[in-house]
Amino acid sequence: MTRAEYIRRTQYNHRKKKMVVYATRISVAMGAVVLAVLAFFGCIYVHDTFWGEESVISNSMLAANGDQTGSEIKEIQAVLGNEESYMGAQMLAQNGQTDGAGVRGEVGAVENAESNEQKMPTVVIDAGHGGNDGGTYSGKIIEKDITLAVAKKIQKMLEEQEINVIMTRDTDKYLALKERTKISNENDTDLFVSVHCNYYEGSSEVKGIECYYAEDDEISEKVAWIIMKSIDGISGLRNRGAKEEDYFVTEYNDAPAVLVEMGFLSNPTECKNLADSDYQQSIAKELTEGILKSLEMLAEEAEKTSQKASEPSGK
Ligand SMILES: [Zn+2]
Repeated sequence: MTRAEYIRRTQYNHRKKKMVVYATRISVAMGAVVLAVLAFFGCIYVHDTFWGEESVISNSMLAANGDQTGSEIKEIQAVLGNEESYMGAQMLAQNGQTDGAGVRGEVGAVENAESNEQKMPTVVIDAGHGGNDGGTYSGKIIEKDITLAVAKKIQKMLEEQEINVIMTRDTDKYLALKERTKISNENDTDLFVSVHCNYYEGSSEVKGIECYYAEDDEISEKVAWIIMKSIDGISGLRNRGAKEEDYFVTEYNDAPAVLVEMGFLSNPTECKNLADSDYQQSIAKELTEGILKSLEMLAEEAEKTSQKASEPSGK
């Protein structure tokens, strides 16, 4: 390029840079204006909301203050918000702007009301086997697939009843028995239900559903019987009742725990049924009913225990 061209180009580049700088400055300035406007309307909104209807706390505080700055509004929000309410009350008390004890009293009342609200029960559903542990099988029908399908159906129905459900697995993955039990023990579990399929080499005639609980575990025994009694609407399904047997996931579980053997893959009819989605759905439905009834029983038992604990002792 010629020297003249070079100079022209340099000047052009220089102008371009300047324009970019101006454009940036203008955008920053406009951004600041927008933020200021938003903050202004935000303050008006917060003021109207709390002044209008909300609380004794904000009213008394605003009244005491006359005007509000951003930080004080934050304190009001802290008091109204659930999480940092105590901190908010303390801040107010320290500031001496309002009666700290009074505020704390009100916050305390709110917290008590919340803790009195009933916590939804937590049920751990354990789909037996998974990954390279297929469990038992007959031809292409594998236990791990049936258990996962039924477990997911139970999960869906329990969640529709607002029960908090934890699945030990919701994919086809391997999970050691210890890990399954750990999941139950590390959560505040109210009931643990493991689902499996049976197999009996001695005879393909043997069929039916049964439920296991750990030895000397009275509360789990009650659960097992409640669940077995709920299995009544599936035609041809033999109810083999509840039985005592120490399986790892029931024995080392802190929560009431049962293991359901939903049927025998060694029985051709039952095997075909268990692989069928509609049949899985009906088993899942009956098990869900049993689980819900068991939760009621467990809640009643807990109620009885707490009543006993609060009775005056010694006559
Ligand atoms: Zn199994």
